[in-house]
Amino acid sequence: MTSRHRARKRFGQHFLSDPGVIDAIIRAVHPTRDDVIVEIGPGQGAITDALARSAGHLHAVELDRDLAAGLRHQYDGNPNVTVHEADALQFDFASLGDRIRVVGNLPYNISTPLLFHLLKFREQILDMHFMLQKEVVDRMAAGPGSKTYGRLGIMLGCYLNIERLFDVPPDAFDPPPEVTSAVVRLDPLPAGTFDIEDNAGFSTLVSTAFMQRRKTLRNSLKKLVEGPDFEAVGIDAGQRPEQISIADYARLSNYLRQKSG
Ligand code: SAH
Repeated sequence: MTSRHRARKRFGQHFLSDPGVIDAIIRAVHPTRDDVIVEIGPGQGAITDALARSAGHLHAVELDRDLAAGLRHQYDGNPNVTVHEADALQFDFASLGDRIRVVGNLPYNISTPLLFHLLKFREQILDMHFMLQKEVVDRMAAGPGSKTYGRLGIMLGCYLNIERLFDVPPDAFDPPPEVTSAVVRLDPLPAGTFDIEDNAGFSTLVSTAFMQRRKTLRNSLKKLVEGPDFEAVGIDAGQRPEQISIADYARLSNYLRQKSG
């Protein structure tokens, strides 16, 4: 797009301007003719064109009215591109088919709620590539024993395989954000990998455990889990919340669910 758009802070607008980074993202996504790709927050179209050229169809979901109008103008008459002026947080991604690939340099202020919204459509999603704040990617990709392992990584990790691809410095954007970014690839796990029977209960269990990450599980989960429950599922209650795996949390949650009838 040639016209200059004044970046809107409230929409988290930082436009990717480094051709090397744009190229690296396109290579990581590797769009093909068979793909229906959904780009969230295309903005001024930094990666949109390259995606649209190789994909079977590209859906662009953009909240900013001016940017959506610009994209609509740019792709007018191109049957392979559909521009949706919409809020990705409310968007019904299932309406775009049942085998979609999702891509986006996401607005950082909404990245966590957006990831949780997208989880609802995980059965329709083949894979996702996102540019996020590096610190968020660290938390998403962290495993047990790591300082950044916690609620975000566990809640996403029970449904997605999370792979950090590469870091992106602030100066790759205009205007530059204050933080370093990273590109991450997310692949939905086969249904039933962790088989969580009570999603709300699982979420409460994990959040409660990590409210005080220095405490032992016995102490931090006192209100939810009794000593014998830990024994029944083979978890040492003297460990800290960051020391047990997603599978451990899933087993404990399912056990509590069955116990409560
Ligand atoms: N992908 C572009 C723009 C990144 S800036 C690039 O790399 O240059 C983030 C974009 O997300 C902006 O265009 C912003 O308007 C858009 N956006 C912000 N909130 C959104 C929301 N809730 N739904 C859809 N798009 C949103």
